[in-house]
Amino acid sequence: MEFHIDRAKVLPKANLWELLEGLKKRYKLIAPVKEGEKFAFREISDVSSVELNYTRTILPPKKFLLPYRRERFSYDPETMEFKSSFKAEEQVIFGIHSCDLHGISILDSIHLKENPDPRYLEVRRKTILIGISCFPDEYCFCLSTGTAFPDGANWDLFLTDVGPDYFVSIGSPKGDEIVLTFKHLFREIEKEDLELYKRSTAKKKRAFNEENLPDLERISQLIELEYDSPVWEEEAKRCLGCGTCTNTCPTCFCYTSVDVPDLTGKEVKRIEFITSCQYPYYSLVAGEHYFKPTRTSRFRHRYYHKFVGYPYQIEKLGCVGCGRCTAECPAGISMVKTIKRLRGVDEKELREVTE
Ligand code: SF4
Ligand code: SF4
Repeated sequence: MEFHIDRAKVLPKANLWELLEGLKKRYKLIAPVKEGEKFAFREISDVSSVELNYTRTILPPKKFLLPYRRERFSYDPETMEFKSSFKAEEQVIFGIHSCDLHGISILDSIHLKENPDPRYLEVRRKTILIGISCFPDEYCFCLSTGTAFPDGANWDLFLTDVGPDYFVSIGSPKGDEIVLTFKHLFREIEKEDLELYKRSTAKKKRAFNEENLPDLERISQLIELEYDSPVWEEEAKRCLGCGTCTNTCPTCFCYTSVDVPDLTGKEVKRIEFITSCQYPYYSLVAGEHYFKPTRTSRFRHRYYHKFVGYPYQIEKLGCVGCGRCTAECPAGISMVKTIKRLRGVDEKELREVTE
C-alpha cells in the first residue's frame, strides 16, 4: 500500500551520492568532511569526501552564512564614496544536524526580524539547508534544550536515517524543488517507512544519558536568582578568556570592525571579524567605561545571554545544546556541570558527569 504524503519522501541510501553529485553541479556544495580526528564543514569538490557519520563539527555551519572575517565595504577617504563587491552565491549546506538548524533559526531571528541585515538576507535567500539525523555523545544536551529534532521552521530538507533508506521530510518550496528535480532518486512513503521513522526518533531519545542532561526548567529564573553564587567565580578561575566557547557556538554572532587603509591612503576597507564576550577588552567602550572588568563577570555574562537575554529578546533559549563550548574548551569547563552546580546538584553526581 502506498501513502501519498506530499511533505515527505523516501531516498534509498544508494541514491544519496547521485543526489549530491547533482546538487554539486548546480550549486556550491558544502558538507561535513573528516579532518584528522575531527570534522569540519567544507566546500566539496569530490562527493566521496562527504562524511555522514559525525557527531559535531569543530565550527558550526554558520560560518557559511556569517563569515568569521568579511569585508563590509570600502571607501575613498577623500570623496567618501562607498563601494561593495559583495555577492552571495547559490549554495547548499548539506548534512546539518538538528541542533545546528535550530542555531541557524536563532541567527535568522536576530538578523532578519527587527532590523534586517540585507546581506544576511541575501545569503539566506540563496542558501538551501539540508539536515541529517544524528545520535548524541556525552557532550550533547539538545534533548534538554528542545532542539534534538528539527521543528520545520527554517530548513529545506531533512534526512532521517531509517536503516536502508533516508526518510526525507520536506520543509520548504526549495525542498520541493529539489525533490522534483531529482524525482527519479526518491520514492513514495509506505507504511513500513513511517514505522521505521517513528522507531528512529524513539531510538535517538533513548540514546541520551540522563546524567549528561542539565535540568533547564525555569533556567532564566535560576540564572538570575544565582547572580551572586560563588559558582561563577569558582568556574571562572579556570577560564583562559580564549573565546573558543563563543567562536564555536552556533548562536553567537558578535562582530567588531576595523577600518584598514591601503598603502596609498586612497582606499579604506571596513573589515568585520567575529569577536567574543570572553575577551578582556570586549566590553571596554569610549570614555574608558568597562562593563565587564572581571573574568567572573565575563564568564557569567555568557550564561546570562544564552539563558536570560535570548529568551527575553527572541523568546527562545540562546543555547541549542550542541556541546561544542564544553567539548572544545581548553580548560575543561563544562556548561552542563556549571548549570548543575547552580542547581545545587551534589558533588558525587558532578564527578560522574565529568568523568
Ligand atoms: S573556551 Fe573555556 S577557557 Fe576559553 S573562554 Fe570559553 S570557558 Fe573560558
Ligand atoms: S552555548 Fe555551548 S552548548 Fe549551547 S549552543 Fe553554544 S556552543 Fe552549543
